[in-house]
Amino acid sequence: MSIIRFNALQEALKRKPVVVHQTEKRSTLFGQNVFNKHAMQQYLTRTAFESVMNAIEHGTRIDRKIADQVAVSMKDWALSKGATHYTHWFQPLTGATAEKHDAFFESINGSLAMEKFDGEQLVQQEPDASSFPSGGIRNTFEARGFTAWDPTSPAFIYERTLCIPTIFVAYTGEALDNKTPLLKALQAIDTHATAVCKYFDKNISKVNATLGWEQEFFLIDDALAVSRPDIQLTGRTLLGHSSAKGQQLDDHYFGIIPARAMSFMQELEEECMLLGIPVKTRHNEVAPNQFEVAPIFEEVNLAVDHNSLLMDVMHKVAKRHSFKVLFHEKPFTSINGSAKHNNWSLSLDNGTNLLSPGKTPMKNLQFLTFFVNTIKAVYENEELLRASIVSASNDYRLGANEAPPAIISVFIGSQLSEVLDELENVTKGKLSPKEKTDLKLNIIGKIPEILLDNTDINRTSPFAFTGNKFEFRAVGSSANCAGPMTVLNTIVAKQLKEFKVDVDTLIDTNNLKKDEAVFNVLREYIKASKDIRFDGDGYTEAWEKEAKKRGLSNNKTAPEALKALVSKKAIALYKEMGVMNKIEIEARYEIKLEEYTKRLQIESRVLGDISRNHVVPTAIIYQNTLLENTKNLKEIFGGEYKNIAKEQIELIMIISNHITEINSLVIKMEAQRAKANKHSGLKSAEEYCSKVKPFFEQIRYHCDTLETMVDDNLWPLTKYRELLFTK
Ligand code: ADP
Ligand code: MG
Repeated sequence: MSIIRFNALQEALKRKPVVVHQTEKRSTLFGQNVFNKHAMQQYLTRTAFESVMNAIEHGTRIDRKIADQVAVSMKDWALSKGATHYTHWFQPLTGATAEKHDAFFESINGSLAMEKFDGEQLVQQEPDASSFPSGGIRNTFEARGFTAWDPTSPAFIYERTLCIPTIFVAYTGEALDNKTPLLKALQAIDTHATAVCKYFDKNISKVNATLGWEQEFFLIDDALAVSRPDIQLTGRTLLGHSSAKGQQLDDHYFGIIPARAMSFMQELEEECMLLGIPVKTRHNEVAPNQFEVAPIFEEVNLAVDHNSLLMDVMHKVAKRHSFKVLFHEKPFTSINGSAKHNNWSLSLDNGTNLLSPGKTPMKNLQFLTFFVNTIKAVYENEELLRASIVSASNDYRLGANEAPPAIISVFIGSQLSEVLDELENVTKGKLSPKEKTDLKLNIIGKIPEILLDNTDINRTSPFAFTGNKFEFRAVGSSANCAGPMTVLNTIVAKQLKEFKVDVDTLIDTNNLKKDEAVFNVLREYIKASKDIRFDGDGYTEAWEKEAKKRGLSNNKTAPEALKALVSKKAIALYKEMGVMNKIEIEARYEIKLEEYTKRLQIESRVLGDISRNHVVPTAIIYQNTLLENTKNLKEIFGGEYKNIAKEQIELIMIISNHITEINSLVIKMEAQRAKANKHSGLKSAEEYCSKVKPFFEQIRYHCDTLETMVDDNLWPLTKYRELLFTK
């Protein structure tokens, strides 16, 4: 056994759970490190408090003088909590979070220092950020960007640093981050959903989109993780024969959380409580060492920030428990990968869920309106939605028979399908009194009962209605939710805008009553978007064929799927909804392609390295043992040896064959890589996808086969059973 593998196993086997001291009740911890409404009420003057609340609720600007006041109070609060530094916390297009810490001190005339933090530091900062990806925006324009305070997501303290959520934009105004377009999309959905709500209740003035994510991940002992160069550099195993026992016994899912993982979870939950992340559930997932945490849902912008923060916190807490967290979508073959389901809905200020039916027929019609419009939005923009979840790592998961296929479809269940089928037959134009009563009582009147019992949840659907929300399941576990949430809210906003125009037209020109007009438009939408609805098994080949007939896209790879991002349609959509301009969209497209290419390039290099520098030399050592043994047998048994050493001779030949194959495949892969590297953008990504990536499986096959033959004592790489079953 290699020294590294041996030491790693020794270390991992000695581990004990790290005891977490729980000093206070969870409920009293909640939000203690957040400059939330409660803290603001304590620390801000009344005017400042109202100004910030106005900014949060109505997006009004905060006056500079007020910002100074807020900054002083925020600093006082932070210092009282022991903070020493502050940072503008933002989400650059790498998908991670970024921060640049400054102390609360400023030197005056060379002497140290008084605590300084005013409106200027709070509101706007200029990080030295020239190495964040910008997709050419900052090359084309002035090469500088600044961060600006987002008052809708409260500041928080983490590791004695006051973190101020900010947007990140170029001086020319283009967004360089994930948050800015998201905030604009949320503005758009608020505007257009509120306008539609007014059909049902004139007093409604604001609609919030809500998100409840479910974060899946693997926990691997960090000594074992470090012993694998592939896990260390790519976040997944590029090699490794599957363990004899995997997930086939289903004994992990919802089982007892192992002690070490449990103490990790407890500390994580405490950190989350302090940071105001309302984590609610934790459980084992299907695969060994796979887990999930999920919070109570929140307004989308906050939920997105909380997920990004959670991922950072998880890495840090895991270190203290000697774990490595794997967020990769497919860290191990032949067992399940990880997702981040995005549960999404729309709600009013008073908490009313617009995707939940109400007590009156009018409320149910409102439910139907948002329900049908969402389905139609997905139908019209399925390719863009598919593009929103693209990553090199998610490509390994989508369509992998445990995850949604690359085809976007909507599952609503048989009973709601029946309701929509009946609505398709509503008379065109004016409704007879009988039909109206019938609709109210027998069709939409049935909805609340149906939803109480909407349990036949189809796990194979990428976009499923689950009783009072839609669940977008194709999102990958390592993704920043801002991407898919920007797309989903933008397309629904656009759809609701169209709906309003269509309904108003019927009211104005055809003299229809409001609810008649709504029924008429919904009927047309239901018909038009029927092809996106699919309740069957999404994993089957039959569905692929059927989807093709229906004209749905099936973009299996990232380079293919990403094209939708820069289609004329998408550019027009983002422009109309005020979310992004062409430059910003093209920049994101470029960054995504480049990231894809780089990830595959790294994987290919690591695979070349471990297969030739770890696997092949080990196979040769073992082969030499066999040769030595054969020679010795010959010496003793003479001509007889051929019979006696039959197995050894065969193995020697087989091993030679695998070694030859590995070497020649790696050389070919390297040649393809060199070719792909000559290009850039789409062409390079396509070459990596179609010419380089196919070697991964082939090389792996030979290495994994060698793993089953070579002396376990010699094998250099920590094996699947060790990675997955060391508790
Ligand atoms: P379960 O599926 O375990 O029964 P729920 O259906 O209540 O639990 O919720 C699953 C996920 O959906 C949770 O993360 C939750 O926060 C989220 N969720 C529930 N209601 C909404 C909503 N109205 N908007 C957004 N997310 C929601
Ligand atoms: Mg789910």
